[in-house]
Amino acid sequence: MPNEKETSKAKELQEKLFMKKKNSGLIMSETELETADKFCDGYKRFLDDGKTEREAVKAAIALAEKAGFSEFDSGKKYGAGDKVYMNNRGKALILSIIGKEDIEKGVNILAAHIDSPRLDLKQNPLYEDAEMAFFKTHYYGGIKKYQWPTVPLALHGVIIKKNGETIEVKIGEDDNDPVFVVTDLLPHLAEEQMKRTAPKIITGEELNILIGSRPFRDDKESDLVKLNIMNILFEKYGIVEEDFLSAELEAVPAVKARDVGFDRSLVGAYGQDDRVCGYTALMATLDQKDVPAKTVVTVLTDKEETGSDGNTGLQSSYLEYFICDLAEAAGKNGRHVLSASKCLSADVNAGFDPSFPDVLEKKNCAFVGKGTCLTKFTGSRGKNGTSDASAEFVGYVRSIFDKNGIIWQTGELGKVDLGGGGTVAKYIANLDVDTIDLGVPVLSMHAPFEITSKNDVYMTYKAFAAFIK
Ligand code: MN
Ligand code: MN
Repeated sequence: MPNEKETSKAKELQEKLFMKKKNSGLIMSETELETADKFCDGYKRFLDDGKTEREAVKAAIALAEKAGFSEFDSGKKYGAGDKVYMNNRGKALILSIIGKEDIEKGVNILAAHIDSPRLDLKQNPLYEDAEMAFFKTHYYGGIKKYQWPTVPLALHGVIIKKNGETIEVKIGEDDNDPVFVVTDLLPHLAEEQMKRTAPKIITGEELNILIGSRPFRDDKESDLVKLNIMNILFEKYGIVEEDFLSAELEAVPAVKARDVGFDRSLVGAYGQDDRVCGYTALMATLDQKDVPAKTVVTVLTDKEETGSDGNTGLQSSYLEYFICDLAEAAGKNGRHVLSASKCLSADVNAGFDPSFPDVLEKKNCAFVGKGTCLTKFTGSRGKNGTSDASAEFVGYVRSIFDKNGIIWQTGELGKVDLGGGGTVAKYIANLDVDTIDLGVPVLSMHAPFEITSKNDVYMTYKAFAAFIK
């Protein structure tokens, strides 16, 4: 048995040598907790205003213009403190504040994505069966398909008519709007369905959205329910069936962002992956009071959930082109700017869920309420597909957080042999930029209703602000 003196020596050493991670609710002051709650009121509004990438771009531009940002002109010369934005096809956005330092010393990049998993309408979606009308869908991003039936859905998107006119659609969000829904089988008749494996409990071709049941009043023709729906759509939008061919219509949960819990400590909403990092990165950029030393480049990108391909995703060159434009306007070489740049790839990570403890390794996963989550590497099975930030860069970021009172933790995407995933980090790192993932731990990620901690949301905002100031 060690005597009392030795025990206290051990305790002293433990204090000195062991890592301690406390719940943010024990570290933050009352005032800061209130600030976090208030910050999340704005966050919830942003979630409700921007349920698709297009709407999120619009909402972000509205906030940016209020904060003095104007549209970027690649031919123009900009000076320190100038604030610009570049709208990429209405689906992705870059915001920039020109810094005081020579741009060749690099820029500070924040990169979040504003697309979220959902049900996209197919190009020829409308049909009638058993005298009900439906839309065919193809889901977007990685969803558990069984989570989407019996959830009230709203329809958002655009239709480009034959004459080129754009029709904007948003139905199901107002309390007086109708909503739409994917149906599911009653348990009494689901014996065979329940024997299917989970990915097939509802198959992709069963994710059909119910949109009506009343026939057009005429006894002679067929497909009268479909006709009645098409007639309503023609009267409301002036569209004919063929116009669906040039439409992007997205069915998303018709649920507003809400406080969760008796203590209101959590935010529950659709699309928090990754609009939580979109909003926190956006606000960290808009709220910069002083002209930053380095030029800030904040990207809200599209297409992350389907692999970042396409001209609005970060595998395309639009971010690189923008930075090169900034460099050229300053008479510098874009390549040199990129090589000297640093990036926080702003994306969510899995929060530990005690109902499913087996998938995460508790010493290295992120916990809800323990602050913003720094993820050195993503990928899976032997770190496959990760850009893996360097120790030097982790050290750099860590010292910024500690100097600025950021409550933070580290995370990983699941147990080593289990799963994994990726973010946009590697596409930015591939431009020769030092990059690491930072974001909010989420429960029920990719579900119609995802959960985050208000403290973590606020700490993520503070972390972004500290990184770019
Ligand atoms: Mn994400
Ligand atoms: Mn995701």
